Amino acid sequence: MTKNLDQYFIHTYNRSVVFEKGEDVYLYDNKGKKYLDMGAGIAVSALGYSNEEFKQGIKEQIDKLIHISNLYYTKPILSAAEYLAKASGMDRVFFTNSGTEAIEGALKLARKYAYLKDNSSKGEIIAMEHSFHGRSMGALSVTGTKHYREAFEPLIGGVSFAKYNDLESVEKLITKDTCAIILETVQGEGGIYPASEEFIKGIRKLCDENDIAMILDEIQCGMGRTGTMFAYEHYGILPDIITSAKALGNGVPVGAFAAVEKFAKTMCPGDHGTTYGGNPLAAAAVCKVFEIYKKEGILDHVREMSSYFFEKLKTLLEKYPSVVKEVRGKGLLLGLEVSCPNGEIVQKAMEKGLVLLTAGSNVVRMAPPLVIKKEHLDECCHILDEILSEMS
Ligand SMILES: *Cc1c(COP(=O)(O)O)cnc(C)c1O
Repeated sequence: MTKNLDQYFIHTYNRSVVFEKGEDVYLYDNKGKKYLDMGAGIAVSALGYSNEEFKQGIKEQIDKLIHISNLYYTKPILSAAEYLAKASGMDRVFFTNSGTEAIEGALKLARKYAYLKDNSSKGEIIAMEHSFHGRSMGALSVTGTKHYREAFEPLIGGVSFAKYNDLESVEKLITKDTCAIILETVQGEGGIYPASEEFIKGIRKLCDENDIAMILDEIQCGMGRTGTMFAYEHYGILPDIITSAKALGNGVPVGAFAAVEKFAKTMCPGDHGTTYGGNPLAAAAVCKVFEIYKKEGILDHVREMSSYFFEKLKTLLEKYPSVVKEVRGKGLLLGLEVSCPNGEIVQKAMEKGLVLLTAGSNVVRMAPPLVIKKEHLDECCHILDEILSEMS
């Protein structure tokens, strides 16, 4: 082991722990230290680390066929597409390798629809302040954090930013050249802000009135994280285009964008493609995820754990009002807004064997494996209690 761990890396992350294995909802580092995992590899490992059916499913697929390109169908990709379409209420799907690529596809689809409607469309997009959609040039262009974007401009043109949960600020930005409004149903990296019902419904109405695409980014908040398969189900609306990734493959890299027929049908052979996207290995993982969610009643479990956890976190809010400002979120995507540096809490937690995430500049984010149990949530709150008492 080299002394300077990041010697061979482009320094885009500050990291120091070397993890070796996972078991159930725990991680072990190279020194054998055990950590309760409240991060799930950033809302990815929904089934935890010991789901034998999942592991068996991908092992069997490795023995059959890992990759074939998208010039051909495979059984897993046919099933994965059907699972995702039916679960999301979308008509057609396209599999990618990551969330970022799903965003790229969604933006292209919205622009293609506008282009066919009127060949003079300028393809303008309205995105949200404090949003996060990824780091590629397209996804970065709709990411609402200036310091992520600034050094990499010029990005794609025609993007403007509205205030999240402020319908009027969105309305003001709509012009005849707008082709899409893109937002997260629950803002994740920005600080765990769920959309208000009025906001989501208002955006649905604006998109209908202007015949433009409503794109919901469900990469972090989808796939059961909020207690429904997709977070927009809480609002009783259907977007035109969705993006998924993170928990979609439970750790096997895969994403997707999906759309209702009106939009989906505008894409033709040659318009978009990917060599790996949704290859048999990734697709087998997606199928297993949907099958296991159903068999194990993951959505009901998330709802039950969420209300239990929320109540416990609220007692911490009452106990440490000088440090904890708010508890918010949906399902098992929860945030503690704190008045001390959030990174310091995450650091202290690591020392005590608890993996937490940050969000924004002042939120401690928790996105544990969805199979987490009450005893684990108790353990998490016990450690948080210790840390908060040291900080207040
Ligand atoms: C993580 C994330 C992305 C980017 O996904 P990658 O798989 O990292 O490319 C996009 N949108 C949201 C809301 C995310 O949380």
